[in-house]
Amino acid sequence: MRSRHLSDSTTPVRNRCGWFGRVCGGRAPALGVALLVATGAVQPGCGGGDDDATGADADAAPPTCDERLVEPQRPSHFSADPVRVQVDGRARAVALEPPRSAPLPALSLPPRREVRRAAAAPRAVAMRVLLITPDEERASYQAAAAALQRIGVPHDLLLSGVDTLDDEALYDDSGACRYAGVILSHSDLSADDGTSSLSQDEWAALAEYEATCGAREVVWYARPAEDLGLVEAGSFDAETDESAQLTDEGAARFPYLVRTAALPIQGVYGYLAAVGDPATTTPLLVNADGAVLAAVHTRADDTEVLALLMDGGPTSLHTQLVDYGVIDWVTRGLFIGKRRIYLAPQIDDIFLRSLLWSESGNSTETYRMTADDVARLLAWTDDLRGRLPAGSSFRNQLAFNGQGAQPGAFADQSVVGALLAAEDAFFWINHTWDHENLDAASEDMAEEEIAKNCDQADEWDLTHFDCSEAVTPEITGLDNQDVVAGLLAAGVRHAVSDASYTEAIRPDNPGDNPSPNVGRPNPHDHSLLQVPRNPTNIFFNCSMQDEEVGEFNQLYRDEFGRDLTYDEILEEDTRLALSDMLAYDVDPLMFHQANLRFWGDSGWHSLYTDWIDRLVGRFTELVQLPVIGLEMSAIAKVMEERAAFDRCELTATLSADRKQIHLESTGTCVVPITGLDAPGAGEVEHYGGVPTTNVTLPYCASVDIDVP
Ligand SMILES: [Zn+2]
Repeated sequence: MRSRHLSDSTTPVRNRCGWFGRVCGGRAPALGVALLVATGAVQPGCGGGDDDATGADADAAPPTCDERLVEPQRPSHFSADPVRVQVDGRARAVALEPPRSAPLPALSLPPRREVRRAAAAPRAVAMRVLLITPDEERASYQAAAAALQRIGVPHDLLLSGVDTLDDEALYDDSGACRYAGVILSHSDLSADDGTSSLSQDEWAALAEYEATCGAREVVWYARPAEDLGLVEAGSFDAETDESAQLTDEGAARFPYLVRTAALPIQGVYGYLAAVGDPATTTPLLVNADGAVLAAVHTRADDTEVLALLMDGGPTSLHTQLVDYGVIDWVTRGLFIGKRRIYLAPQIDDIFLRSLLWSESGNSTETYRMTADDVARLLAWTDDLRGRLPAGSSFRNQLAFNGQGAQPGAFADQSVVGALLAAEDAFFWINHTWDHENLDAASEDMAEEEIAKNCDQADEWDLTHFDCSEAVTPEITGLDNQDVVAGLLAAGVRHAVSDASYTEAIRPDNPGDNPSPNVGRPNPHDHSLLQVPRNPTNIFFNCSMQDEEVGEFNQLYRDEFGRDLTYDEILEEDTRLALSDMLAYDVDPLMFHQANLRFWGDSGWHSLYTDWIDRLVGRFTELVQLPVIGLEMSAIAKVMEERAAFDRCELTATLSADRKQIHLESTGTCVVPITGLDAPGAGEVEHYGGVPTTNVTLPYCASVDIDVP
């Protein structure tokens, strides 16, 4: 899939960057620099976000920490989020585009790797990854870049054929290694004309670097070759479905995947291989016939390369399943960043009733949850928890309107007692008192709508409720300065925005993430953080299958060229949600109370639970990582921490003896170091059997951490 922003990037080229060699100076301002900024990766002297073609002075001394802080930060423009399509004036998540995939050329003269010399003494190495491609439009490049960015691994892009790969790019002035690992987008870094985009000298410099610095290499989309220890044994095209199984070594490399899972490979070209010499080459993934799809090879010079033999983009399922294990390998299991799997469904309009959809649009029928729905929701939730991987923390999140719970508001108030009796099973969120549209509201009205509902929550003594969190009715009011002031006056600090309203659709106040797991400050007042929330195609005005199927097909009949069944709708819509989970995306999901209408005499069928069940089923078939359900204040905290991390211009260096990590920053941020269990250095979390130490860096810090 192509990032929608990439094609717009016609910003002028920045000249070479003196401090950082040519790695900084490619013609890739929009993406290249954005990646640097987004991963806290801007080097001193690199301009700190200066986009001007003459902005960087090659001969100037590196600025001091204070000087760097003065320079404005540039937001990331790279987004690997799934494409969301605007339909009938309403933005809805539709489908994932398949990646633009193509077979790889067999070069008539493949590049030769030769190690000119390799230094004996180990050197200090920066905890960064070098990503090399001749073409930012390549799916495999975008997949690798997206994975690094989603996890938060500092990295640089070298645009081969434009930037030069030489010693200046690879070693700093002290001779330290600039990169812990190297990722090539595809075999031979072949350009469109079928030749390698790296010169023979550059290949030699890379080979020497890998030998000198102990840097591992990944070829994200490889054609089998002697240099990878593989013999070509076949190929497949984008129309052919393949599937991969883990070998024993693959299960050790990807321990978070289900050992017996068949990993689907769809919509891409790829190759099958046989191992040349089992002493030097270890398959990680094989197909049903035992043909190799991914392998690690140790070369004669003792350098190591991991090759994936299938293409893939940022939302290709097979790529998303393996990306973490590949990055963990190339960094030898010690890297800046972390990955977590999140699932946070928010159900709006609790205590209200919903007008239901009808083909004619004239329905007067409504639905409002009952005590029976609540009982079945609780039973289903218990059952779901048993189906989620150990360590998961799933919770239904209820965005409620207190007015609907008042005596006399509705004839049957059984839902109120039932929900309040089980109140500590839920996360509760303020959806305002009576769901009045806030777009034209006054400051006083906005404040009252929030405050009255907070008072109700207090009166009920809700265990998991915080007046700082809100979902405004239909996400209204966020473009109104008075309303924003009212929300803030009532104590709101985080409000949900609609992630399907991208920058292209709503340039003044986009609802999506500017970069992975980052929210946007409200344009009227930055003290209100907007938390992007993903809509689903389970519509607010649907309570039963026929309504859902009718509305979905009314909206998307032209898109799909036919009507989809209920089962197909679930499959299509959870494909997107699965991709979000595997993108380590923290954004919550949107549902509504009518979706919790349970049908049938027994069992747990409702639009909401069918959708979650399908998603969880697909996930647990493939992945055995805990699924984390954060309440909204914790989601906002993840976003605030990630934004601070992206801004803090971190440099991290592993000492030559590998016993110390040196961290420097210009801002204040929390730095997650995965693979490090150092309680003395910061809070240690364990996830999927892997420790992450969260190191808090104060303003302009320089910190040394002992590696146990
Ligand atoms: Zn609502």
